[in-house]
Amino acid sequence: MKDTVSIYSQLDILRKSLDGDLKYDKVTSTIYSTDASVYKEYPLAVIWPKNRSDLKKIVAFAAEEKVAITLRAAGTSLAGQVVSSGIIVDISRYMNKILGINREEKWVKVEPGVVLDELNISLKNYGLFFGPETSTSNRCNIGGMVGNNACGSHSIIYGSTRDHVLEISAILSDGSEVLFGPIGKADFSDKCLQNSLEGSIYRKMNEVLGDPLNQREIREGFPDPAIPRRNTGYALDLMLNNEIYQKDSVQKFNLCKLLAGSEGTLAVITEVKLNLVPLPPPAKALVCIHLKKRNDAFLANLIALKYNPAAVEMMDDRILELTENNISQRENRFFLEGRPKAIVIVEFVRETITEVDDTVSAMTAELKADGYGYSFPVVKGKDILKVWELRKAGLGVLSNMKGDPKPVSLIEDTAINVEQMPQYIADFAATGHRFFNGKVIPVSNSVP
Ligand SMILES: Cc1cc2nc3c(=O)[nH]c(=O)nc-3n(C[C@H](O)[C@H](O)[C@H](O)COP(=O)(O)OP(=O)(O)OC[C@H]3O[C@@H](n4cnc5c(N)ncnc54)[C@H](O)[C@@H]3O)c2cc1C
Repeated sequence: MKDTVSIYSQLDILRKSLDGDLKYDKVTSTIYSTDASVYKEYPLAVIWPKNRSDLKKIVAFAAEEKVAITLRAAGTSLAGQVVSSGIIVDISRYMNKILGINREEKWVKVEPGVVLDELNISLKNYGLFFGPETSTSNRCNIGGMVGNNACGSHSIIYGSTRDHVLEISAILSDGSEVLFGPIGKADFSDKCLQNSLEGSIYRKMNEVLGDPLNQREIREGFPDPAIPRRNTGYALDLMLNNEIYQKDSVQKFNLCKLLAGSEGTLAVITEVKLNLVPLPPPAKALVCIHLKKRNDAFLANLIALKYNPAAVEMMDDRILELTENNISQRENRFFLEGRPKAIVIVEFVRETITEVDDTVSAMTAELKADGYGYSFPVVKGKDILKVWELRKAGLGVLSNMKGDPKPVSLIEDTAINVEQMPQYIADFAATGHRFFNGKVIPVSNSVP
């Protein structure tokens, strides 16, 4: 990077060439120095691009000046994904249009700055919605969801963002514009022959993925494929599940699977084509299993999963206690009975309420027979939202804890095979005790 004075004069020149905005004053730099994580770095500048042409100029500038660029959507990342000392490129201000909806083929094309809730409101009249969700759905953007491969409570049925990304238009580091999407064998071979950065990406991928030794290492070394909700580096293992590298597969090769979850490190996303799903069936109920022991939550979860729930979430006693004195959360605690060590919330969605009731009865009977739970309130109608509000508030109330001790998110979004959860939590607690003299307490507030 050039010296400070000269880089600012270069930024001034860049600003004049943009349709969007560019700032490098102290206030802006301070506002953009954090995301929802504990990390903090002051960026050199912040740019709000208006279009693809702006983005191409920014990429060219970054290459020329050797400055890092970090794409930022709503900035709700929890692990410092959008914190950088380089240039922050905020796509949420201008690049937030829905570009096209196809009801018959069930897809929507959007710019990366579209807010998830706003997208789903627009899709409601079509009887469709975008399946994956996050607790931050009222502000997080599709670009950020793709970057983090986001998913939420209903990931049991809808999977993660990656599962619904059909195509991505992107800008590569040399400024070239590329469309990533599903391609057949012949197209794949053609791409590998192209004399361009795109061509070299396909060639390099083929070099890595086509090597039998690498294939074995990837298949054996990557996390358990039975865990659908995981973000462990680049999803190279999923890049093997297609007709090019797996004889019996009918899936097409699609680099979108790699871009999803790559946290903005591979390309600048300018448009995304997303798969849509029909709105969920109308009948819904929650069962709020009250447990006397925290570990029972992980065992009760295994029973709940047998009944095809739409969502299963857990809140432990520490989170529940913190909501006790929270004015906005007090009314959302209406369903609590006594002082449970943990609550497991199980959501059932079916075509009729009779089907829901039958499933609730069957699951509750099995839980009782196995000795899990002392109370099983069933919540229906508008009250369902209150229960989910309480669950969503978990992370917030934890962060705003009164007094000197403050929670620090050391291990975020760990993905564990549900069968191994009881042992994992026990091991984790023991490790905390060993290294932090008993001052580390695992707090569970997630899909068990
Ligand atoms: C209270 C709270 C609750 C949360 N709950 C959940 C949850 O339930 N599930 C979940 O998955 N996450 C959750 N998160 C994390 C976060 O909200 C989600 O991952 C969300 O999808 C991030 O969206 P965003 O718009 O804020 O993206 P950002 O944080 O702005 O960006 C996310 C990533 O995407 C990249 N990116 C953004 N735009 C582009 C682009 N145009 N091109 C290339 N890369 C781009 C960024 O560089 C970054 O790496 C939670 C966070 C908080 C604070």
